[in-house]
Amino acid sequence: MNLLDILFPKRCVGCGRIGTYFCEKCRGRIRYIAANEAICPMCGHSAIDGATHPGCRTRYGLDGLTSFFRYDGPIRKAVQSVKYRLITDLVTEFVSLVPQSSVVDTSAADYFLPMPLHASRLKSRGFNQAEVLGTAFAARLHIPVALDILRRVRATAPQVAMKTREDRLNNMKHVFQAARTIQNDHILLFDDVFTTGATMRAAANALKRAGAKYIWAVTMAR
Ligand SMILES: [Zn+2]
Ligand SMILES: [Zn+2]
Repeated sequence: MNLLDILFPKRCVGCGRIGTYFCEKCRGRIRYIAANEAICPMCGHSAIDGATHPGCRTRYGLDGLTSFFRYDGPIRKAVQSVKYRLITDLVTEFVSLVPQSSVVDTSAADYFLPMPLHASRLKSRGFNQAEVLGTAFAARLHIPVALDILRRVRATAPQVAMKTREDRLNNMKHVFQAARTIQNDHILLFDDVFTTGATMRAAANALKRAGAKYIWAVTMAR
């Protein structure tokens, strides 16, 4: 055990027990999303393998969604811990919890694209949790990460604070901008949590308008 482990012992994100970030008991409480529980990222209803329903397809929309965990219990706490403080070991352990069997198909993907934060948010937080998690995950999948393609040009109120669907749509207008033109790229768009999906749909819209061909959303939880 080194000095850092003594000063800052690993604590379970679920229950606080010292030893690992995910103790055995809390690992047992993690709820995985089964293949038959996948949803369409455009309407939120169940969909085979998470592929967007043919009727929900739009020219600039998302093509599908893969999420690994339910956003509750130890996973919710892990996401919040990652957001709160940068702990590399925790990120590595978190990413390693994704079962090999549910790892996304990367054969046609050009790169992983973590959702960007607005510059002001990045400054106050010091790091982008989606980038940290996404980079670790992409390393596991052996695919490159792209950090210079999408920019978040407008800060927004949290989507959960928006009462109506119209408010949510307006809140997402002109939030993202592609930093350059994209040549028919096949992108895995990554975020920590998929909630309403409005943010990821807005990002997909900007990327497809810039030339992206195919965008599959990947999130740790939903
Ligand atoms: Zn625990
Ligand atoms: Zn749908």
